Amino acid sequence: MTNYLFQEQNWQTQLSQLVTDPYQLLELLQLSPSSLNSTALLAAQQFKLRVPRAFVEKMQIANPLDPLLLQVLPHHLEMQEHPDFVSDPLGEEAANQLPGVLHKYRSRFLLTLTGACAVHCRYCFRRHFPYQENLPKQDDWPDIRDYLLAHPEINEVILSGGDPLTLSDRKLGLWIDRLDSLKQIKVLRIHSRVPVVIPNRIDEHFCALLKNRGLKIILVIHSNHAAELDDYTCQQLQRLTAQGIWIFNQAVLLKGINDNANILAELSQRLMAANVIPYYLHVLDKVKGAQHFDTDPQHVENIYSELLSLLPGYLVPKLVREIAGEPNKTPLYGASP
Ligand code: SF4
Repeated sequence: MTNYLFQEQNWQTQLSQLVTDPYQLLELLQLSPSSLNSTALLAAQQFKLRVPRAFVEKMQIANPLDPLLLQVLPHHLEMQEHPDFVSDPLGEEAANQLPGVLHKYRSRFLLTLTGACAVHCRYCFRRHFPYQENLPKQDDWPDIRDYLLAHPEINEVILSGGDPLTLSDRKLGLWIDRLDSLKQIKVLRIHSRVPVVIPNRIDEHFCALLKNRGLKIILVIHSNHAAELDDYTCQQLQRLTAQGIWIFNQAVLLKGINDNANILAELSQRLMAANVIPYYLHVLDKVKGAQHFDTDPQHVENIYSELLSLLPGYLVPKLVREIAGEPNKTPLYGASP
């Protein structure tokens, strides 16, 4: 498919017209509805399908194994129980200090401003997170500010998911202004998959919002496969790097999608074309419903060894696992800390 239509449509319209019906998604891709059995539909009830049309446009027609499709299509295996796969694999509820606040790492502080995402990734480790009970309200700012001031070791705030770039620029700007007013905060990191699934989120207003800040602003995108990064998406990302924003990528190693060194090498090459630095390759967090994406540890090690031989060091993401309660992510198989 070509995505020329979506280059013309603003991001707000695209966000309001997500595909949420699994049958519609299969129809758009000219695929048989038979792959959706009643158990897959149950999975779709528990964690709804959400996917922007601009992302659907990057999928191959009539390919039931398309690596982008497999990341978003509800699957009957999500409903299987497995003792190692749990609803809060990273122990985030224990790190939840105030509404919307997670303080997991010494100098970094996560702020979740919305529970909404533009796309629902079936492997998401926060797919069971109780967002609605845990969002900061506008008048929670004094408490958040006081918490930051009481922890002078915190110098970086991470706006995380849900996806902060589903918020309007007005709301986002309000929080950025607040954080920018605290001298202690040197870096603002924005974690978002929106620039990959709705590249038009990077528009003139958003670029202007990030300009001339006292804070160093870093965008961390989430892309798992080179097919997600077409030329238009790369151009949009370059608009931000052209104004001095650093962009990194984190990917998740997913069985049947990117568990292959050549596929990961191609992803790194595409990221370079977009001026994006490959940052982390996460092994799957053991979240309930995602066990069918898990990759055997020996296979992970083999893939990573091969990846090291295929790419220059600067294009090799750090292979990491997040372990609940650890003070940092844990590097695996020769990845430097
Ligand atoms: S965009 Fe990020 S937070 Fe949202 S569902 Fe996907 S992985 Fe999870």
